[in-house]
Amino acid sequence: MLRVFSLRRVAAVLALSSLGLATPAAALNLFSPQQDVEIGRRAAADAERRLRIVRDPVAEGYVNAVVQRLAAVAPGPRFAYRARIVDSPEINAFALPGGYVYVNRGLLGAVRSEDELAGVLAHEISHVAERHGTSQASKAYGAQLGVGLLGQILGGRNNRLSAAEQIVGGLGLNALFLKFSRNAESEADHVGAATMARAGYNPLAMASFFDLLAAQQRSNPGAVSRFFSDHPAPANRAAAIRAEAARLSAGRRAPVGGLQMVQARLGGQAQRASGRTARLGTSRSRLGF
Ligand code: ZN
Repeated sequence: MLRVFSLRRVAAVLALSSLGLATPAAALNLFSPQQDVEIGRRAAADAERRLRIVRDPVAEGYVNAVVQRLAAVAPGPRFAYRARIVDSPEINAFALPGGYVYVNRGLLGAVRSEDELAGVLAHEISHVAERHGTSQASKAYGAQLGVGLLGQILGGRNNRLSAAEQIVGGLGLNALFLKFSRNAESEADHVGAATMARAGYNPLAMASFFDLLAAQQRSNPGAVSRFFSDHPAPANRAAAIRAEAARLSAGRRAPVGGLQMVQARLGGQAQRASGRTARLGTSRSRLGF
């Protein structure tokens, strides 16, 4: 169901934009949560035509169990989160609007604990929950088309194609959904750490994973080059998360369990796989968290 946008909301957004006021990363969003789901479904189908997905129900089931535990305590709309594993050796992950989460095989092999994996997944879930993708699309299209026209397209009642399909058809996936502002990245770290704590994971593991990435940058820069092309430095992010974690108190819960078995399964798959590397997007873009 499409939502008709109120002129008052559009006027408020325009006023904020023209005043140049600092707004939270997710403040400007002309899409409805249902439109996030429609756009995400379309973008996920497109992504999965271009990426090789690991078809291992055990490994996928494990990642989804961690995702569900986090999603149950995540803020935002009750999206139906689901995760898939991408057959890529790069250490990365990304998420599309509406709850479509993708984790590279390389990342699953690199994490040292379920808590570190939960840190990455919590960060991705936070991008979805805070609706950073459609917030970014609102800003980009609002600037290009004018906020009023974008509101008309999204709120139109007589379109043969759904508004979401029109929007997705005209946008670049990478530019709008896979590359976020530094504000949005910091917010995803912050919200993700709190989500981890509520789910019974140790939020410090998100920081320890950034330490691991920093070490990888020195020893094996190719594996993390995309991550570093456009992200805040891991050292700064780790420090911010450690400060955040000190405020968060929550009971720890036992892990879902099975990470090492999943790593062994995926390691076997990597040996069998051909040399083809799954990639999404252009050389200028990057995926992920
Ligand atoms: Zn991110």
